[in-house]
Amino acid sequence: MNFAVVSRGDEISEAKKKQAIEHLQDHGYTYHEESPDTVIAIGGDGTVLQAFHTYKQRLEKTAFIAYNTGHLGFYSDWDTVESLLEAVVDNSLIMVEYPLVEAVMEEEGVSKTYLALNDVTIKGVKGSVQIDVHLNQYHFESFKGDGLCISSPSGSTGYNKSLGGAIVHPSLEMIQLSEMASINNRVYRTIGSSLVIPKHHELTLVPKADAYMVSVDHESFQPDTICRMKCSVAKQRIRFLRSRSFPFWNRVKEAFISLNDCEPRGTR
Ligand code: NAD
Repeated sequence: MNFAVVSRGDEISEAKKKQAIEHLQDHGYTYHEESPDTVIAIGGDGTVLQAFHTYKQRLEKTAFIAYNTGHLGFYSDWDTVESLLEAVVDNSLIMVEYPLVEAVMEEEGVSKTYLALNDVTIKGVKGSVQIDVHLNQYHFESFKGDGLCISSPSGSTGYNKSLGGAIVHPSLEMIQLSEMASINNRVYRTIGSSLVIPKHHELTLVPKADAYMVSVDHESFQPDTICRMKCSVAKQRIRFLRSRSFPFWNRVKEAFISLNDCEPRGTR
């Protein structure tokens, strides 16, 4: 098996990276940064996003493992790097697949496709932004406010959660549209709730501003012009190698409520 390790670059993550490489090489695995079968991300959720974007061209051939060395590692489910390495060598991991967001941005005849593990956002550069929202090619609403966030199920606990969106189990194939501070008055009116959009539907955003910022996970940029942005559940999925015993709702509780009194590990 070929493997690679992506580290956040701090002292602790680098030490764990060295330990992981040595341990796996001692057990006959090959370190191969160009074409790994398994990628271990050591750091925080930002490191998982970095690892995903490094290897997004070969998602069908790559599985990811997240090990947290920071405060909150939502994607991680390991207590120690030793237990993670033992599970890799024992082949006792289970593979889970999570949906991704696809955003196709049409810029004056040219279209560019982006994949997000967490979310895509569109915001104003100077103040609020106006965006026409279409569902399956029908106009749904005209939004005015700080911006819009389109999240995947596993990204629903990120920015989407801060915007009051729902937390979604990653077994559901959907994307979620959440508003950032919409202006609602006699002139501008939006639904005010997050919308859950299924796999076979398409969301199209038509921004009306001259300048806006787009983010795809941890990366932000200011496109020249976007005529429209079509968002949907991507055909590709990300594969994680996970511990058998850390159900999604336990991770949600441990991350956001308390470390105690979780459902016993081993249930799902
Ligand atoms: P960052 O350094 O600003 O950290 C953002 C925080 O979000 C970190 O605590 C991280 O652990 C957490 N996070 C990231 N993905 C998560 C997920 N799927 N579930 C739960 N928590 C998650 O930025 P970063 O580490 O580069 O991550 C980029 C992500 O940050 C974006 O994709 C977006 O979801 C999130 N974000 C959140 C807000 C907000 O909540 N107000 C604002 C901007 C970005």
